[in-house]
Amino acid sequence: MTPREVLELMKQHDVQMVDFRIVDVPGRQHHVTVPAAEIDEEVLEKGVAFDGSSVPGFRGIEESDMVMRPVLETAFLDPFTEVPTLAVSCNVYEPSGNRYERDPRYIAEKAEQYLQSTGIATTAYFGPELEFFIFDDVRFDATQNSAFYAIDSEEAVWNSGTGEKNLGYHVKNKSGYFPVAPTDTQQDIRTEMVLELMKAGIRVERHHHEVATAGQAEINFRFGTLTRTADTVMTYKYIVRNVARRHGKTATFMPKPIFGDNGSGMHVHQSLFNGDQPLFYQEGGYANLSELALQYIAGILYHAPAILAFSNPSTNSYKRLVPGYEAPVNLVFSRGNRSAAVRVPVAVVSPKTARIEFRTPDCTANPYLAFAAMLMAGLDGIRRKLDPTELGFGPINKNIYELPPEEKAQIKSVPGSLGEVLDALEADHEFLLEGGVFTKDFIRNWIDFKRNNELAPLHLRPHPYEFSLYFDL
Ligand code: GLN
Ligand code: MG
Ligand code: MG
Ligand code: MG
Repeated sequence: MTPREVLELMKQHDVQMVDFRIVDVPGRQHHVTVPAAEIDEEVLEKGVAFDGSSVPGFRGIEESDMVMRPVLETAFLDPFTEVPTLAVSCNVYEPSGNRYERDPRYIAEKAEQYLQSTGIATTAYFGPELEFFIFDDVRFDATQNSAFYAIDSEEAVWNSGTGEKNLGYHVKNKSGYFPVAPTDTQQDIRTEMVLELMKAGIRVERHHHEVATAGQAEINFRFGTLTRTADTVMTYKYIVRNVARRHGKTATFMPKPIFGDNGSGMHVHQSLFNGDQPLFYQEGGYANLSELALQYIAGILYHAPAILAFSNPSTNSYKRLVPGYEAPVNLVFSRGNRSAAVRVPVAVVSPKTARIEFRTPDCTANPYLAFAAMLMAGLDGIRRKLDPTELGFGPINKNIYELPPEEKAQIKSVPGSLGEVLDALEADHEFLLEGGVFTKDFIRNWIDFKRNNELAPLHLRPHPYEFSLYFDL
């Protein structure tokens, strides 16, 4: 879209406000809103100033005058505002006019440019599958600004037997995938989310209830190029949360909100193309994958401990990556096995659909950074011609849970904590620096931010489960 087209669109829809949005380093959106009367072609080209000093992960007050410049093709009419408002994602610039190097969107764009500079492929496609819970409410303990004490969902309350009504159609334990209504009580709210996503220009392919008992959902949209797909993830989360709010409910993308139930992942399907020529397909190869695809897989698995610092960057992420909940626990690749970190979907029937599915990521990832890190790892695997089998990453075709102990002992596991993956990133990040995609400063800042703002404060707080363990000791 050109500035002129945006102004035309604004006139058509009687837009009164334009909402400029950026994404901070951990992955939350922030915005400033400008009256339509202040918007002209120049503002749409040059952007608006904002104070960058209180954006999490950005620099301190010495560099607070920043500019957000809209990426016009991301514009959509915000369905949640009272007056017609156009929302648009922005790139962040320094006052000098340079791109801001800690802007996650810049890192994503650099990863795409780097891919092209390698000559390996022109395009990387990313297809994330986001899962989330829709709860009736969530309670925080405001006094400690820390623990949540109870989560109620209509379905969970009824299942726990404490609800007033019991009409018989319960989601049975871990069987939310995928009985029809009246067992599925969330069809209409998911449909409403889908319709809003489509109005915002997102091509939705399907929605369904997910496995978890307590109201878990999945809405899938069509894959796309790296940066634009990360933009879609941000808009998706915004729309899902606000449709839930419209109904007096609350949606969360936390990987493991409920102990003993399935968690929420963000599996990421990936493939490389040269123009419209797919590069991951080779008839007769393992699962019809090309050598290039296997090298890409090897890169992902080899660098997985470091990548997880971006794709699974929360302490809660590691409560999901445990056996028994369809989340990956094994650092292997496999044709069908859902406990493998990399799965090759059996639906790979034609060259164009040939892809790999990295199942580890979750929605606490900043999608710009996580996609960029995965691409860089895959490209490193290609550049170094890594062989996933030589590196001990499979393929494993048997059910891993049923392997004899000596075979199981050979299989590497995904790391078990945020602390471990931050250490791994500290030790292994050269591959991310190629082509200047990530900078040393950014990685240092990320590690310190996660250690100081998440790991350390969590460590200081009494956990609800400690009451169960120690209260009466
Ligand atoms: N919820 C599972 C996870 O945590 C995935 C379930 C599925 O899509 N099969 O990854
Ligand atoms: Mg899915
Ligand atoms: Mg799913
Ligand atoms: Mg999947």
